[in-house]
Amino acid sequence: MTTAYKHEPFTDFTNEETKNAFKIALSQVQEIMGNDYPLVIGGERFTTEDKITSINPANKAEIVGTVSKATKEHAEKAIQAAAEAFESWRNWNPEARADILFRAAAIIRRRKHYFSALLVKEAGKPWNEADADTAEAIDFLEYYARQMIELAKGKPVNSREGEKNNYIYTPTGVTVVIPPWNFLFAIMAGTTVAPIVTGNTVVLKPASTTPVIAAKFVEVLEEAGLPKGVVNLVPGSGSEIGDYLVDHPKTSLITFTGSREVGTRIFERAAKVHPGQMHLKRVIAEMGGKDTVVVDKDCDLELAAQSIFASAFGFSGQKCSSGSRAVVHADVYDHILGRVIEITEKQIVGNPENAKTYMGPVIDQNSFDKIMDYITIGKGEGRLVSGGNGDDSKGYFIEPTIFADLDPKARLMQEEIFGPVVAFSKFSSFDEALEIANNTEYGLTGAVITNNREYIERAKREFHVGNLYINRTCTGAIVGYHPFGGFKMSGTDSKAGGPDYLALHMQAKTISEML
Ligand code: GLU
Repeated sequence: MTTAYKHEPFTDFTNEETKNAFKIALSQVQEIMGNDYPLVIGGERFTTEDKITSINPANKAEIVGTVSKATKEHAEKAIQAAAEAFESWRNWNPEARADILFRAAAIIRRRKHYFSALLVKEAGKPWNEADADTAEAIDFLEYYARQMIELAKGKPVNSREGEKNNYIYTPTGVTVVIPPWNFLFAIMAGTTVAPIVTGNTVVLKPASTTPVIAAKFVEVLEEAGLPKGVVNLVPGSGSEIGDYLVDHPKTSLITFTGSREVGTRIFERAAKVHPGQMHLKRVIAEMGGKDTVVVDKDCDLELAAQSIFASAFGFSGQKCSSGSRAVVHADVYDHILGRVIEITEKQIVGNPENAKTYMGPVIDQNSFDKIMDYITIGKGEGRLVSGGNGDDSKGYFIEPTIFADLDPKARLMQEEIFGPVVAFSKFSSFDEALEIANNTEYGLTGAVITNNREYIERAKREFHVGNLYINRTCTGAIVGYHPFGGFKMSGTDSKAGGPDYLALHMQAKTISEML
């Protein structure tokens, strides 16, 4: 009997002992900087000449690691290995599959700071964000393992006299997993183990900016006892192997988290039936967001300012859940704007290895350039009131940036920037606030800060987002507590970390036997 699920606690870094432990972890991770990692296919290691280089975004000169780069031949081998392993893995007892996740969670928990320190290096996460990412990875393992044990019981259906009916869940097949770089540990691990625990096998193509943590995670799964071929690691470019994996007739399920552009491309490609394909493919896609914090005039003003600030700038705004739009009632607009500027300008931006740093760099040159372009656009569309500068000489640093007085239809209010930029717009009635909140093609997260009960009830019905938060930030969903996923062009609303997630990886089977 397993204990009830409870999320992994966050580390208190004000404690000196913990702080020192984290510093030691950083120095341990320093020793593996620049290591080389092979492909893993059918349990065998393959090293290629061609490499993907993972660099520290806070210090471009530092190589976090190099990983072998898969070709189409490797991708083919990986699909075949996964298809072969599926034949036995699908028949494993679901509890035994769940046990591998429990063991993997225990391994990670024992070396928690080590993994978080690697996230500081590979993605430029400040300590608390890295710690939350590792905690969420553990949560996915713990939660999905328990969910599988439940799902293995099937669901009740009726039986008439003289028959016995059963409704059970069966595995689907080869799953292509394409995770993002922003939750490089949590989402990578979660989207890998959900198919595994449900009896599917995986070809994992990690994000090219953060492949080292994926290589480390595959080592953890092996240590936990995962049989060969159940997970196959093939870092590679989207254009060289991404389409190949998605199009493959043996691929049954594709689980993707990333941009709207790539997600819709996968969705379209997966619809095509290829020669030799015996099934329709399924796609789980979690894409972008243009998320809003709505602030009513009747609210806790300090809570509102803190919520806007934390939603906008946590991990440099590089979350699909980031609150990149603050929509504020005209009566409190100047006060809230002033207070958010004040809070923001007190923060330390810089090297994430320093315990005091609030915000580190953005992930790479492409992101840096794109965000700086949006800052230029913002200067034309609104009033720059804080930040606005970038420096990519050593790492990809951009100041937390605040724009005021945007038209709700401005590009800054409509397009996903994925960086530390927040745009403010004013409203004068709650109808108008909801209209602005719903005026993008996305529908991922949103927050409403108000004391008005009627407005809270209206938001529940009329604010069209997959994750609606009342009187708090619009980021920071916790596995098993806030199932996560969006409406509209934000994706397939698959609700990662929720009670329906695993079933998306399975085929329900009805068995009716005459007695
Ligand atoms: N689950 C995360 C949150 O609630 C966001 C995931 C993402 O950005 O991809 O903040």
